Amino acid sequence: MKMELFMPVRVISGVDCIRENAELFKLGDSCVIVTGKNSAIKSGALDDVIDVLCELGIDYLVYDGIHENPLVSECFDGGQAASAADAKFVIGIGGGSPMDAAKAIAAYAANPMIAPDAVFDVKKLRPSLPIIAVPTTAGTGSEVNPYAILTIDGEDRKKTFNSPCSYPKYAFLDPKYTYSCGYGTTVSCALDAFCHCIESYNSPKSTYLSELAAVFGAKKIWRELIHLENGEELSPKTRERLLNAACAGGIAINTTGTGFPHPMGYNLTFNNGVPHGKACAVFTGKYVEYCMKDEVGAERMTKFAIKIGATPEEIAYRIPRLAGVSLKLSDEEISGFIEKIRTAKNFTNSHYALSLDEAAKIYRELF
Ligand code: NAP
Ligand code: ZN
Repeated sequence: MKMELFMPVRVISGVDCIRENAELFKLGDSCVIVTGKNSAIKSGALDDVIDVLCELGIDYLVYDGIHENPLVSECFDGGQAASAADAKFVIGIGGGSPMDAAKAIAAYAANPMIAPDAVFDVKKLRPSLPIIAVPTTAGTGSEVNPYAILTIDGEDRKKTFNSPCSYPKYAFLDPKYTYSCGYGTTVSCALDAFCHCIESYNSPKSTYLSELAAVFGAKKIWRELIHLENGEELSPKTRERLLNAACAGGIAINTTGTGFPHPMGYNLTFNNGVPHGKACAVFTGKYVEYCMKDEVGAERMTKFAIKIGATPEEIAYRIPRLAGVSLKLSDEEISGFIEKIRTAKNFTNSHYALSLDEAAKIYRELF
């Protein structure tokens, strides 16, 4: 039985956890706060962080306006700004986009002389500035892993920046920051977290401990799914469960990585503007179907389903249905997609290793 699990992030959770743990922000006399357009303000997280920094006498620069699916260039610019401000640490507030950007900015700030694309050559980098992550969505789990999924400028292609120094030092999980998330974002993020859990559990790299995290997360989301399907106003308890589940999903993929729905979904995000979680979840039915073609895969998938209180068939039906992605793709678009997933490491990260022809068939069948 493989027990491996590496988790250097100190996770602190609960309502008002930032104010109650203010002293943890003493990581230096100045910092840069990385945010998206509005979510840090709308969620109340920015106010809480700034209050704490002011109390502690720490200078800060707010680097806002990180876009969804952040570009390498905007992270590079953020790194230059952080370096010019002599920031000693970086605080990422937002969904996966600002949290991922914060990791790249922390690397650029510690290496201000490198070219933008040199950041992926992690062995040559000086250690990143310390990072604090404050999620405002319940989805990516970026707060507990070192991945920064960046978009290469002008290429509509994602590349993962993954340095051992990019784990946040602290992750503050306050469910009230997710209350302002609209229905569409909440659904997409919950689906993303579910995809992390199912793809992690069914990866050949999973370990006993990563499986515990994956089942913990998926079970919570599966139980809350009905509220999302009904479009209900979510209770604080449900919000909290989703946030904790997303964190568990992040811990699970930290050990295993994701499976083929992720690289296949990236294409729908770039080409068709489908939000990340929905873009992955639309492939979950096919993921289940193909995993079941392999003997070990079928055994694993069935076990996963039983553990979360479902059947593989129910998962294959409910998850893509909630994603609700309806598109029409041309043969030319599909050929372009296949080229982009050809080299993705996670494409074959399941017991049934999908071929590129099968991926094209899946795109054709679904769209
Ligand atoms: P996101 O791209 O960070 O944000 C999506 C939208 O939700 C934005 O408009 C954002 O507004 C808004 N939003 C966020 N929190 C909100 C709140 N509390 N109230 C109101 N609006 C809010 O979404 P995400 O799904 O969390 O992250 C997706 C990104 O993460 C992708 O780039 C994906 O590749 C990456 N990802 C990373 C990992 C990882 O392990 N590191 C895993 C999965 C995905 P603002 O623009 O104002 O912020
Ligand atoms: Zn994801």
